[in-house]
Amino acid sequence: MFTTLERRRQNVSQSVTTTTKIITGHVVSPLSGADRETLDLERGAVVVCDGRILDVGEARTMIDDYPEASVESYGDRLIIPGFIDCHAHYSQMAMIASPGLQLLEWLDNFTFPAESEFADAGHCAEMADFFTTQMIAHGVTSACVYATVHPESVRALFRSAKSKNLRIMTGKVCMDRHAPEHLLDTPELAYEQSRELLEEWHGVGRLEYAITPRFAPTSSVRQLELLGQLAQEHPEAVIQTHLSENPAECAWVSELFPEEADYTAVYERFGLVRKRAVFGHATHVSDSELSRLGSGQASLAHCPTSNLFLGSGLFTLKKNAQIAGLKIGLGSDVGAGTSLSPLVSLNEAYKVSRSVGGPLDSFEALRLATLDSAEALGIEDSVGSLEAGKDADVVILDPETNPVLRMRASHAKTTAELLFATMMLGDDRTIHGVYVAGSKTR
Ligand SMILES: [Zn+2]
Repeated sequence: MFTTLERRRQNVSQSVTTTTKIITGHVVSPLSGADRETLDLERGAVVVCDGRILDVGEARTMIDDYPEASVESYGDRLIIPGFIDCHAHYSQMAMIASPGLQLLEWLDNFTFPAESEFADAGHCAEMADFFTTQMIAHGVTSACVYATVHPESVRALFRSAKSKNLRIMTGKVCMDRHAPEHLLDTPELAYEQSRELLEEWHGVGRLEYAITPRFAPTSSVRQLELLGQLAQEHPEAVIQTHLSENPAECAWVSELFPEEADYTAVYERFGLVRKRAVFGHATHVSDSELSRLGSGQASLAHCPTSNLFLGSGLFTLKKNAQIAGLKIGLGSDVGAGTSLSPLVSLNEAYKVSRSVGGPLDSFEALRLATLDSAEALGIEDSVGSLEAGKDADVVILDPETNPVLRMRASHAKTTAELLFATMMLGDDRTIHGVYVAGSKTR
């Protein structure tokens, strides 16, 4: 009979290689399972081997169990899963923080001119590299991202993400009406270009393709039909679009699709409501729509900094989280959102939750930006928590990097309090280190 330790050592001797390392610090991570528990190990460790998490536990035990491994110690710093951004536009980094307008006018005045520049391949490459570099700087290791109508904008982001081994889902924005002429495709072109890109990139390393109609007003019925057909032909693909972000947009959709009962029904009609379909915003949806989105196993991206910045509306997180089948993740929605930092998004999400739905606590907030987001994107088997078998996407948070947070953190008596202060007062300065699939990249 082997003791547990002997059995563990026997397993270890088979799996430990020279690349095994132990990352020690204050480990905090949501855990998979219906109980939604949080792992909290003040002197914890994550054992990493060949890009994956091999084990997680008390630091002393891990060091005893894996004597061959090197140790990278982060003292009291927080060790959490890499953040996941469910909704961002890399094409909008040059016009982030453009004020004074609501959604539809903001698109016309700021977004479409910025996206026009992606007709140039050099610009695509430069912006893609800027975005992926900033993702890491903000502790984001996975993201679902809109490119532009130009196929090269998709290739540039995939290439850049591949070079950094980031987990990226992106797709060509499809628009064949209600946008400047030079940004329009056609139903057939949207289908063909999306299909080509999907076949070229889906499943390459950590990359996946997202079928991306911008939103119902900029796609004709024929385009939505063809994108629905593409989705049916590729059930493995992600779908991303916008839903009920702003009252004027909702009224416009009612005019454009008078035969549909509501905005969600437009996407349902074309087979675009399903598992791994990620709808940005959903701040003005009815109970009936929420329940149908849940039955369709679809996902919503809560984008608090964007909703507040554009004055779009308030997302009722806690109420929506009760809807059976519905998954909810966190999105930066840059450039309408004002920060790539999930800490900043959680700060705003907390403030919104005080007004609608009920307050978000710090462990729920951490889960929203990690494991809940992974589930919303359908990548929870690989990322979203520090659990054995998952990719070693790990972020080290240092609450000592800004003076106000340092002062507040020194008075925190519990992990929940420390984490909450870090979310309210932290930003990219708080990101002390980032491991992407086990490699230290920052
Ligand atoms: Zn968006």
